[in-house]
Amino acid sequence: MSAAPQTLQLHSRHSWQEQLQQAIRTPSELSAALGLTLEELPYSAAADDAFPLLVPAAFVARMEKGNAWDPLLRQVLAVPQENLPAEGFSDDPVGETSLYADTPGVIQKYQGRALLVATGQCAVNCRYCFRRSYPYGDNSQSSKERLAAIDTLLADPSIGEVILSGGDPLLLPDASLAAIARRLRGNTRGITLRIHTRLPIVIPDRVTASLIDALMPREQRVVVVVHSNHPREIDHDTARALERLRDGGVTVLNQSVLLKGINDDADVLAELSDQLFAAGAMPYYLHMLDKVAGSAHFEVSELRARQILGQLASKRPGYLVPKLAVEVPGADSKREIAPDYVGGF
Ligand code: SF4
Repeated sequence: MSAAPQTLQLHSRHSWQEQLQQAIRTPSELSAALGLTLEELPYSAAADDAFPLLVPAAFVARMEKGNAWDPLLRQVLAVPQENLPAEGFSDDPVGETSLYADTPGVIQKYQGRALLVATGQCAVNCRYCFRRSYPYGDNSQSSKERLAAIDTLLADPSIGEVILSGGDPLLLPDASLAAIARRLRGNTRGITLRIHTRLPIVIPDRVTASLIDALMPREQRVVVVVHSNHPREIDHDTARALERLRDGGVTVLNQSVLLKGINDDADVLAELSDQLFAAGAMPYYLHMLDKVAGSAHFEVSELRARQILGQLASKRPGYLVPKLAVEVPGADSKREIAPDYVGGF
């Protein structure tokens, strides 16, 4: 008898595709969902024009009602500070435009790995995103072109890992993901499939049994790197989504961006590591902000970042302390930044 209400509740949930379609795109919808007036929301129409507001209701549901400074809200709200010019901030902060390979959608930055921009779409528009001005239109691919690009990559014997990035690659239909995974499995070298995604965080219902079947993680190495920045992003549904991935055989890692006013605090990061670990995901990278135009108000200095990491390292075992790293245009790997154990206490 007790199973009936739960079954009913599950059946009444919208599919991930419907949740995506119904995502919030206007400040009035957002303010109404948060119990704020439009005037209380520090919203900028000009910033919204430059990079549109987009956030799924499942993510908004984790924001604190009535709080215009909520750390989840601040990640997605177009604010007036984005319109201020800032020295050193540009549309291509990591120098990607010089790295486009001859094949559209392929970026080859580091040895042994190649990155495929699987789609230009995202389920959420994060205000600090370094690809907010990426020319997705010039680099979009049909399924056929995507598979041809993978064949080209696999012809290079040095490639041992194919990374799907975006946009958000989990917006591809399961059939397209299955075709990519199959192509990689067909290679005798044993290619790792890595997927960078924010979807399991913002719409946890994206992690379906059909998605796991498409990736076949029991048959090949599959790494999913999710992206969460604050412990409140990991609620019950998110944790279950991460567990479903892990239980399916996927290695689940998390990367965060260090953001002023959101997670520039060792206690917040420690709690995030705890939540991720409890759900079966390991903290992997904590990135310094890429200096994309419109994001200067999120910047944390390297000195302060080292102190925060030093404090975090004093609070948690090493496996719960992500690597602090910065992307350096033209470098052949990310530059890791050592914690400051002295200034951190
Ligand atoms: S989901 Fe990822 S790619 Fe999309 S806007 Fe956010 S950070 Fe950028």
